[in-house]
Amino acid sequence: MSDYIGSDFDPVPLQGILAQLAPQGRAALLPALQAAQALYGYLPELATVEIGRALKVPLADIHGVIEFYSLLYAQPKGKTVLHVCTDPACALRGGEQVLAAICQRLGVQPGETTPDREYTVERAPCLGLCDHAPAVLRGQEAIGAVDLQSVGDVLQGRGNHPVTACYGETNDLIAGCGKGRATTLTEYEARGGYAGLRRALSMSPAEVIAEVKASGLVGRGGAAFPTGVKWEGAAQAPGQPKYVVCNADESEPGTFKDRVLMEEDPHLVLEGLLIAGYAIGAAKGYLYVRGEYPAAYQALTVAVDEARRAGYFGEGVDILGSGYSIEIELRLGAGAYICGEETALFESIEGKRGFPRLKPPFPTTHGLFGKPTVINNVETLANIPRIVTQGAAVYRQLGTEKSPGVKLFCLSGDVVRPGLYEVPFGVSLRHLLFDLAGGVRQGRKLQAVLFGGAAGAFATPDQLDVEMSFEGLRAAGLPLGSGVVMALDETRDLRRILAGLAHFFAHESCGKCYPCQIGTQRQYEILRRVADGKALPGDAERLADVGWTMADASICGLGQTAASATLSALKLWPEIFEGKNEKL
Ligand code: SF4
Repeated sequence: MSDYIGSDFDPVPLQGILAQLAPQGRAALLPALQAAQALYGYLPELATVEIGRALKVPLADIHGVIEFYSLLYAQPKGKTVLHVCTDPACALRGGEQVLAAICQRLGVQPGETTPDREYTVERAPCLGLCDHAPAVLRGQEAIGAVDLQSVGDVLQGRGNHPVTACYGETNDLIAGCGKGRATTLTEYEARGGYAGLRRALSMSPAEVIAEVKASGLVGRGGAAFPTGVKWEGAAQAPGQPKYVVCNADESEPGTFKDRVLMEEDPHLVLEGLLIAGYAIGAAKGYLYVRGEYPAAYQALTVAVDEARRAGYFGEGVDILGSGYSIEIELRLGAGAYICGEETALFESIEGKRGFPRLKPPFPTTHGLFGKPTVINNVETLANIPRIVTQGAAVYRQLGTEKSPGVKLFCLSGDVVRPGLYEVPFGVSLRHLLFDLAGGVRQGRKLQAVLFGGAAGAFATPDQLDVEMSFEGLRAAGLPLGSGVVMALDETRDLRRILAGLAHFFAHESCGKCYPCQIGTQRQYEILRRVADGKALPGDAERLADVGWTMADASICGLGQTAASATLSALKLWPEIFEGKNEKL
């Protein structure tokens, strides 16, 4: 206590929390910082000293971590932090104007706090509320469809609580979604929930892996790696303990499918994770939820508690008399897009800045804490209970030969019915966009569709008959990515959209490797002047040069795909980079 004489810092509540976290050492750094911030409103220096002592982490490292994550604050913030989304889907519906109106009303600039310390206004990356754009996160509360008239309501804590509309030609993944609240354990069990876990536990781990391999399931986070092959790699890798991780750090602009699954059907995700853990022999599982998804974190907190009390997991718990046990820990991210990259996510759980690791070695042999690890996306895990319950043959009845099963697509932008759509692989883009989602708003013509998010590419109206499957999209040169389908009508200025995407990457690059660190900055500078109508001769060539350099020489997927949309636009509409396009 003598350290604090003369200060009003009260260390006692923090010390109580740190006593519980201390056995984890550095791995508890993010939870400790988040707990301290919840207590004091920010991270006072004296709190970081306490944390460093308790977890045995050097103070300089702690400051490095605080600086890395945008949701950790070294300086006092307002009582309420307003995160205003200005990424593509929100920008299309006036996100910048909403941000400007909030700032004007409060007399601050983005990033500033009002003199009375009531509010801080932040420009936010995509909040995963693209179907309710423009969106604001007011503290922990999401508010959708904000416009200039409702800015006052937002400040006073009123507003439209967004519920994502779910539409399905099939009902495999969204069976528990669309009601605007989380499915309880009782409800989940009543519709057959945890039958997949029961069945898995009656099989050998090798049989479970064989079933998942036979299903043809591939990862739904963007990389499309065969899930069963990944599980087999970790199961056969030497080394203990093994870990299973749910990558719930959904951050790709335009993507909200994982948020909806977690908020409304959290047990489905948890069941998938438990089955994956059993298949590879994991002793511990982590669910790492994006920091900007407080409602998903809350829903999973409740679900984890319910499932633990029901005996579905727990340290030393003999799950359903199987002899297998696993412990599950929920982690909350702290605002870093790069932590969606699997190795950056491991670093984050280990209490470090989220820098991606060089690969190989791969996570299946050297993952979390250097041990064999399986990391799967939320939607991937949501497929698992059905595969195990009904068998691979039934699962393969939907979809195409090379893309079995169903897929969730996030429709946003200038579409009549934005929302979450579940369809079997193989439907056409035309069917999804026009038959199911109602086509383009206000009777306008379609100019383009952004596929796969910020790291995606554009489709043109003459590609409407493309088959929505891995093989169909690959043949058309389009990425499936994380399932983003953002419609852009004929009035949209593609140069502005590209500049917005470039700003996103310049902001989110972690800076570990030069091609991405410098390339994302140069790309943004060039695209900003293109958007302002001030393109210089040779800018198109410069963009291509920077883009291909990032694609070829960056360490991780962020840098490798940071120019994808730009390169796609350069190919489709070279004239817009020279300022010659009259229409725009
Ligand atoms: Fe970091 Fe970008 Fe390099 Fe990835 S590519 S390691 S995000 S600097």
